[in-house]
Amino acid sequence: MREFDYIIIGGGCAGLSLAYELDLHKKLENKTLAIIEPRDGYKKDKTWSFWKVLDHNFDDCVKKSWKNFSINSSTETKHLKCDNYPYQSIDSGLFYKKIITKLKENKNISFFKNIKDINQNKSFIFNSVPSQETNKNNLWQHFYGVEIKTKDKIFDDEIINLMDFNCEQRDNVHFFYTLPFEKDRALVETTWLSKMDDISLKDYDNQIKNYIEQNLKIKNYEIVYKEEGAIPLFYPSNDNEKNKINIGTAGGMTRLSTGYTFLNIQEQSKFIRENIEKISNTKPFKIGNKYKFLDGVFLRVLEKYPEKMPDIFFNMFSASSNTVIKFLSNKSNLLEDLLIILKMPKLIFLKSLIK
Ligand SMILES: Cc1cc2nc3c(=O)[nH]c(=O)nc-3n(C[C@H](O)[C@H](O)[C@H](O)COP(=O)(O)OP(=O)(O)OC[C@H]3O[C@@H](n4cnc5c(N)ncnc54)[C@H](O)[C@@H]3O)c2cc1C
Repeated sequence: MREFDYIIIGGGCAGLSLAYELDLHKKLENKTLAIIEPRDGYKKDKTWSFWKVLDHNFDDCVKKSWKNFSINSSTETKHLKCDNYPYQSIDSGLFYKKIITKLKENKNISFFKNIKDINQNKSFIFNSVPSQETNKNNLWQHFYGVEIKTKDKIFDDEIINLMDFNCEQRDNVHFFYTLPFEKDRALVETTWLSKMDDISLKDYDNQIKNYIEQNLKIKNYEIVYKEEGAIPLFYPSNDNEKNKINIGTAGGMTRLSTGYTFLNIQEQSKFIRENIEKISNTKPFKIGNKYKFLDGVFLRVLEKYPEKMPDIFFNMFSASSNTVIKFLSNKSNLLEDLLIILKMPKLIFLKSLIK
């Protein structure tokens, strides 16, 4: 069986981002890489969005970028600007195509469907498949989105709606999210923060239909694309081993208070590429401990007081948008952290400081 210097298990966002980064920086000229990915072919299956707080390799896969966003409570709307950190949406179809095309040109990179097809004894392994262990107390961000094409040009495509809490909460935390790609085309998502133990929250089609027709007041539209997903708001229990590190969601790259993962994956790929020659002796890249701590408190508040969350999110955005964006994208300094903490309701956060 063939042997490789490196193996990437899972050719999804993290696996492909890492392979691309290594190839781009010529780290695979004298080294071999196997990518293990069971899917038969790649097609668009996700829209990755984030505030662009750092440069990445995929500007040419950006479907649209915005400099304005809004957030709605049940009674008010806030309009905010993000000129310094535009909000970008990446089309996963373009991302997969760009990467696979480039990687196929490198004869040192091979693709396999099953790890059993190769000898992994002497390889360094980057694993992006989260362990399947489940715990019924874990929180998830689960969502369903449709891209719609409307008959009339009704969207303002200069502004996204990041969170609209003007909807039923059903004892959990629920909001809608609207990304207008064009004046007649938008992605509309229904998003829940829950333990996923209540199957009735999954009447997604009804939620979306009612929201589009009653809140957005759109009657004439067709659905051109759908996506569904669940992001773990906990760290999967994958262990790093001597010759193996975990990447992507499996490697703790998700920001637990928001689900944002894409840019953390890009930072992790860059870090690995910079340290690839001594990777066995390098401490793995991590999201800062202060965010782990603050997100832990935040999620405990969310579990105990779900009914307070719409106001908590809404009030957080009364800090300057640069401050909030940097905080949510793990780029804030201590002063900015403090400005965010001061926007939080003190008593319930204090009560949630410990488990
Ligand atoms: C629908 C959706 C939308 C999202 N939107 C955003 C967003 O807007 N912004 C953001 O920052 N984050 C977003 N996320 C979170 C995160 O960015 C994505 O989940 C991202 O794809 C995580 O990358 P990953 O490589 O860890 O996992 P994946 O991209 O899921 O890759 C894992 C790969 O492993 C493969 N695999 C599975 N089992 C095996 C096996 N046994 N052996 C080998 N390979 C296997 C899978 O086929 C897959 O290709 C979203 C997640 C989902 C699900």
